[in-house]
Amino acid sequence: MAAVPERDYDLIIVGASFAGAACAIAAAQYGLRVCVLERKRDPGLKLHTTGIIVKEAAERTWLNRVPAELVRKVERVRLYAPSLRDLALQVPDYYFLTTDTPNLMRWLAREMLDQGVDLRLAHSFTEADRAPHHSRGAWRVPEIGRAHWLIGADGAKSRVAQRTGLGAVRDFLYGVEYEFAGLELREPDALHCFISKSLAPGYIGWATQSPCGVQFGLAFRHRPARTGVPDIDALRRAVGGRLGIPDTLAPSATRAGLIPCGGPVAPLARNGAILTGDAAGIVSPVTAGGIHSAWQHGWAIGAAIARHLRDGGPSPETVAERAAPRYRIKRALRWAFDHCQMDWPIDLLLSTAPMRWAAEQVYFGARPQR
Ligand SMILES: Cc1cc2nc3c(=O)[nH]c(=O)nc-3n(C[C@H](O)[C@H](O)[C@H](O)COP(=O)(O)OP(=O)(O)OC[C@H]3O[C@@H](n4cnc5c(N)ncnc54)[C@H](O)[C@@H]3O)c2cc1C
Repeated sequence: MAAVPERDYDLIIVGASFAGAACAIAAAQYGLRVCVLERKRDPGLKLHTTGIIVKEAAERTWLNRVPAELVRKVERVRLYAPSLRDLALQVPDYYFLTTDTPNLMRWLAREMLDQGVDLRLAHSFTEADRAPHHSRGAWRVPEIGRAHWLIGADGAKSRVAQRTGLGAVRDFLYGVEYEFAGLELREPDALHCFISKSLAPGYIGWATQSPCGVQFGLAFRHRPARTGVPDIDALRRAVGGRLGIPDTLAPSATRAGLIPCGGPVAPLARNGAILTGDAAGIVSPVTAGGIHSAWQHGWAIGAAIARHLRDGGPSPETVAERAAPRYRIKRALRWAFDHCQMDWPIDLLLSTAPMRWAAEQVYFGARPQR
């Protein structure tokens, strides 16, 4: 295949997931020349997210255009103590959307193309340079072209951060998830969450009904000293019967990945290079939800670049730093979870009013938290 000649863009984005798509669509809306590099041939493959979208993102972002058949409303959380005593949580008018995530990612790719984004699939970013002889200090990505802004939306282990000297994510959760295509949970209208210090130190297990089956996962706090992967089979043995996941059923797919949990990296932006989404550490340290924050931050950067170019608005680097949630309270809660987690108080207090209030704050509280 003949090489495509290098071109000039306003911005080059690495990563075609939530943060990258938001940044690309926002910038393209203003008529900017946008190139997105994605290493996967098919954006729906090799996912590492459950893909649950919170109500705020479902209603107030571009994600409100997602075709109805790709989402399913879940209005209740069922929280299980380590003893497996459970508590149903619900607040009026609040919901989550579970998604047919592979097809959601393919839909996002089509949205980018429809907005005129130059989406290069199967193209892995490896390097960029900013030598002075390249058109007035622009970034040059070999075989792609030049742009004044290079955006790292390439996930928790960002290559863009490495190559441009920006901050790296250092604190992680590690999650593993089984998918059971076509299966229906005994209680499909709830997001089931399991607390257990032995199986999920520092996080939880979960099960949810998506439009195409069941997703069943477990994550723990990743530490250099903690070897191995979360024991998802032990959780399945403990709760599978109750949820309606037969012992003998083999998962149709497995997803796994690192989830940033230490708040935004520093520096997050410098000299025309900007990180967003997981690459910037913009994920709630408590819930590990990152889709809404990735979307908001990516969008803010795309719009800021356009306003800067068109109207001389503030520098996009400054906007990117300011738009990053600091998660001060959630980082304190993360510290407490890391250092003080115990099973017995949760077994004892699960049905009490303070515990219900605290759980409702975590699942339905005002978000995103600063
Ligand atoms: C198991 C698990 C379950 C989760 N569940 C939820 C959930 O239900 N709800 C929620 O809100 N959050 C969830 N999260 C967190 C959420 O998935 C992330 O915060 C969100 O996906 C971040 O989006 P992003 O665009 O920043 O990065 P990512 O989704 O990580 O995407 C990065 C993209 O960059 C591409 N890429 C990487 N390197 C390169 C390269 N060198 N060249 C080109 N392309 C590259 C990747 O292929 C990928 O497409 C979960 C995370 C995990 C691990």
